[in-house]
Amino acid sequence: MAAQLVDDFGRVHRDLRISVTDRCNFRCTYCMPAEGLEWLPRDDILTFEEITRLARIMVERYGVNGIRLTGGEPTVRANLPTLVEMLAALGTDLAMTTNGVSLPLLAADLRAAGLRRVNVSCDSLRAERFAELARRDALARVLDGIGAARDAGFDPVKVNCVVMRGVNDDEIADFVEFGRTKGVEVRFIEFMPLDADGIWTNDLVVPVNEILALVNQASPVEPVERTSAPASRYRFADGSGHVGIVASVSDSFCSTCDRVRLTADGQFRNCLFAVSETDVRALLRAGADDDELAAALEASVASKWAGHQINRVNFIKPRRSMSQIGG
Ligand code: SAM
Ligand code: SF4
Repeated sequence: MAAQLVDDFGRVHRDLRISVTDRCNFRCTYCMPAEGLEWLPRDDILTFEEITRLARIMVERYGVNGIRLTGGEPTVRANLPTLVEMLAALGTDLAMTTNGVSLPLLAADLRAAGLRRVNVSCDSLRAERFAELARRDALARVLDGIGAARDAGFDPVKVNCVVMRGVNDDEIADFVEFGRTKGVEVRFIEFMPLDADGIWTNDLVVPVNEILALVNQASPVEPVERTSAPASRYRFADGSGHVGIVASVSDSFCSTCDRVRLTADGQFRNCLFAVSETDVRALLRAGADDDELAAALEASVASKWAGHQINRVNFIKPRRSMSQIGG
């Protein structure tokens, strides 16, 4: 049998998230402080060659079959289409999560370079509220970005919406309507304790059952069979598309998690909530060969825990926030 990135619980890891930068042109309240964060020095960031080498090892040795580019905001990394072309040559399902603001400029080039799928984050369809949440008055531009992604041939285009109680939970029906009429799949995401400002409290989390009830009220849905993907998917009963809910807090999907992460500064993480990392950049830059790099990746995955402990007394918030880890 081919080698696998497998842990003690038998979970095989085939999904790689790569953060290509920790920088961002937004300052979403649930992610970053208003003043931003201290950016990593340029030399600390992995080069395209280093990223591609690590990805190739994971694809060729361990059957990793999905790669998602994220950040920070991936589109602020210069020459992103070049990296996309290098990773596309590995032949995996190549996707990106973005705030969408640069898609009017970049969507066609990214698609031509081999990017297959795109998720655009958008947490409000009301311009004023969007500006408060993202701390950028950019709703119109993001909506243009969603349109540009569709025009460039990305299919499906998904829209990620972080739901927060008393902040934007009154827009679930609007997002359902938006998804159905624009032909995009909206994914509602529970707010996770990975914000840099420490504003997260359990009271701000709108649990999956509540979100689902509001979705059903807006337009009846029926469940689609679950996969290892974190979102529970539902189809609209009238055939007008799908909607997803990512219940990261109230109904963790840890038992089927198949995801590993590489941060912009070359730290390999076996869990979004991991409190320790494996410094693969140090190995790369010390001249490690592929076997040595592979051994480090295997050891990290082998030591993965059963799951995160949010809402338990032993939960430890990771030192880095979502934008630094790569959401
Ligand atoms: N900048 C890109 C974007 O916003 O899509 C990619 C990076 S962002 C960290 C990736 C995803 O994480 C986005 O969909 C964002 O909404 C989500 N996210 C950020 N902070 C979060 C939090 N505290 N809880 C839940 N999701 C969060
Ligand atoms: Fe930037 Fe994305 Fe975080 Fe918003 S969620 S601040 S767009 S990294």
